[in-house]
Amino acid sequence: MLAYTYVSPGKFELLDKPRPRLQSDRDAIVRVTLASICTSDLHIKHGSVPRAVPGITVGHEMVGIVEEVGPAVRRVRPGDRVTVNVETYCGECFFCQNGWVNNCTDPQGGWALGCRIDGGLAEYVRVPYADQGLDSIPDTVTDRQALFVGDVLATGYWAADISGVCPGDTALILGAGPTGICTLQCLRLKQPGRIIVCEPDPARRAFVERLYPDVLTVTPADAVAFVQAHSEHGGADAVLECAGSADSFRLAWETARPNAVVTVVGLYDTAQTLPLPDMYGKNLIFKTGGVDGCHCGETLALIAAGKLDTTPLITHTFPLRRVEEAFALFESRRDGVVKVAIEPGA
Ligand SMILES: [Zn+2]
Ligand SMILES: [Zn+2]
Repeated sequence: MLAYTYVSPGKFELLDKPRPRLQSDRDAIVRVTLASICTSDLHIKHGSVPRAVPGITVGHEMVGIVEEVGPAVRRVRPGDRVTVNVETYCGECFFCQNGWVNNCTDPQGGWALGCRIDGGLAEYVRVPYADQGLDSIPDTVTDRQALFVGDVLATGYWAADISGVCPGDTALILGAGPTGICTLQCLRLKQPGRIIVCEPDPARRAFVERLYPDVLTVTPADAVAFVQAHSEHGGADAVLECAGSADSFRLAWETARPNAVVTVVGLYDTAQTLPLPDMYGKNLIFKTGGVDGCHCGETLALIAAGKLDTTPLITHTFPLRRVEEAFALFESRRDGVVKVAIEPGA
């Protein structure tokens, strides 16, 4: 089968590999019907994910049809349409029991698919702990509607959830890339009084303005004054940092009102510094991390109910045999690209 492979730092290649097989009683094999490319894949390519293992198939955002399950798998059967979770987790350890599945202590736990074990930019993928890693897609939800449930939408849902946003609040989202927009959609369900999105790219600001006319947009240069002018208490009640740059990290605490919650979702290439003397007395609460992606059932239900719709993010579609081209487009941000869908069967 075709599998897009991390060959060596800086190099991905579409290779012919054997189809994956069940390795444990709790595994499932899924035939991938639609996959996507994530910024984290670019981080692997450029060597900023040291735990990524050369030789593995990349890709950790996909949906498909269950082909085969191990004898201990209970929640899915062959033939089921499923979303695949980016995170592998056992469901039993202390962290899993608390819903902190990103820190599952199982040796395979955490972000394994498409990083430490073969992922889903391929025709088939093996999913460990299938009862935890797979969720059935309701009949009324299409593959395209469900495509981001396991990764970027899970991140947006988790970020909105831990942000502590209450009805009526002013919330600021830094970054209008795929993570920022998924966070925006989930945040709207919390009914904040006002959402402001800060984004340097005019095309991405226009994308937000077109899809969400009630959301205010601003450039990073104007953000501090703009947020102050559009909030009641000298800054945002909640800031959600989804951009992952040094500038956005600084803006995150500068634009927050005293005692606000700053949720840091972005993944940085370099260490960031909290200038505590400058922030003294602002009494901010920082929440950081990688997604605890264990609410896919809830997000699928919200999609089925018409409350979440990430299909506008899919700006381009390519067959798997042209994945190289798709990566180049995604990386260049040309042609208004937000997310790319990859069809292994096309
Ligand atoms: Zn990802
Ligand atoms: Zn666990």
